[in-house]
Amino acid sequence: MKICFVSIDVESDLAKPQSFEGVENLDRIFNIFKKHNLSATLFISGNVLERCENRIRGWAESYEIASHSFSHQFWNNLNNEQRQEELDRFINLYKRIFNKNPKGFRAPSHIIDNSGLKLLEEKGFSYDSSVVPHSPFLKNYRGYRGKAPLSPYFPNYQDYMKKGEMRILEIPVSGVLSFPLAGTWISKLPFFVYELLFRIENPDFLSLSLHSWDSLNDKVIIKLEKLIKLLKNKGYIFLDGKQIHEQFSKN
Ligand SMILES: [Zn+2]
Repeated sequence: MKICFVSIDVESDLAKPQSFEGVENLDRIFNIFKKHNLSATLFISGNVLERCENRIRGWAESYEIASHSFSHQFWNNLNNEQRQEELDRFINLYKRIFNKNPKGFRAPSHIIDNSGLKLLEEKGFSYDSSVVPHSPFLKNYRGYRGKAPLSPYFPNYQDYMKKGEMRILEIPVSGVLSFPLAGTWISKLPFFVYELLFRIENPDFLSLSLHSWDSLNDKVIIKLEKLIKLLKNKGYIFLDGKQIHEQFSKN
């Protein structure tokens, strides 16, 4: 079975941090997901959850709602206590709205480390999806730290980029032959490049990761549906984070 993890990071706009136009236009992406019957996880920052509570209650009927921290500050700038505050604030808000704990987390800008993952585990998260496991061409992610497994794995306490004994599952943000399936890439790469890459390789696990502000980019909207059709033809099934966690906890 070939799995594609579908997610959207829901946060303020990239170009204007005080604006939430991307969040307001998410239906443009949801319409494509609905048409193709996709499961997906929304990694929502606490400040968006606070602001759009009612709308997000509606989204929760179709999608998994997970954490993208509270204030979207990068974790390399926060000490353990500040990280804890970020998580507690998010968890309390989430519990008040949904009457349960969030299962998944994605670190802002993919910046995660050993102590960060351990903290997530202590706070009861079932999975994290921050690790970029390969060096993408042309761009070094702020959070990129080297090679990691390309499929979901339980990390090592001493080195989270390796397999080990942790109870929290890492769902890496894997692409095809090191090309990410992410909004900016989807927008910029000519579509035939993806067709070519998938002719060469069909990895067992993929991560299709979008941002709320991708909804404002017509190129992403047009090519996203083409990409989903291509993946369907290659035999991929589309799962959210909690479904992947169930799948990998059984083995
Ligand atoms: Zn983000």
